[in-house]
Amino acid sequence: MRGPHTLQCEVCGGPTQFRAPRCGYCHAPLTWGATVEIVPGDEIARADMARDTLPGWSPEATAAARRGDACAVEFKHAMVKLGTFATPACDACISVSGVCLDDQGNLGALARYVREGAAQSYYGAWIHPGRRRFTLERVLGTPQSAEIEVLTEWEVSGHVAPVGALNRVELRCADSVLDLLVNGERVATVVDARFGFGHFGWRASSVTPPSTLLVHSVELRHIR
Ligand SMILES: [Zn+2]
Repeated sequence: MRGPHTLQCEVCGGPTQFRAPRCGYCHAPLTWGATVEIVPGDEIARADMARDTLPGWSPEATAAARRGDACAVEFKHAMVKLGTFATPACDACISVSGVCLDDQGNLGALARYVREGAAQSYYGAWIHPGRRRFTLERVLGTPQSAEIEVLTEWEVSGHVAPVGALNRVELRCADSVLDLLVNGERVATVVDARFGFGHFGWRASSVTPPSTLLVHSVELRHIR
């Protein structure tokens, strides 16, 4: 299953790759700007933590962690917790809304997550409200030892809301183009073709535990 494709030949409508010189179907020459605008379309899946189960968690675990209209993710040890929707995709937009209750929490979205045995790979964004900063990385490894390739170094941004305020972190993926948005503002765009397909979801971590984050919603959309 595949959603509508942003990267199309303007002549024949065939799918194409970012920065391809010619259409692979009709051979029309293609022109590209520095980037493409990736626009979210129809909803694929949504978890509203006032009533739904947090992706990757059981209904019981979600119910036990529910605080009002959010789900609390608590850290007693340094680790990354993550969960994904069941539907895999190539091109999609994932957005995660939540609140970091202390200056140690990182809230993130992940894209094209693949797990083979203990090995996992994905694109992951972080926002760290404690220092009003964000990063985008490519993760390859096991839960014990991950190789992290930084695609966008940690950067301070006024778009990241502070500790205690609601933040929305969003990854929009079309072909090899990845857009990172924080609270609706695009803060980074990278081109990376390493991981092409997988699951989309949320992640959270703590710089120095203990730490608590509240996840309010996770939303997956097609691109238009
Ligand atoms: Zn064409």
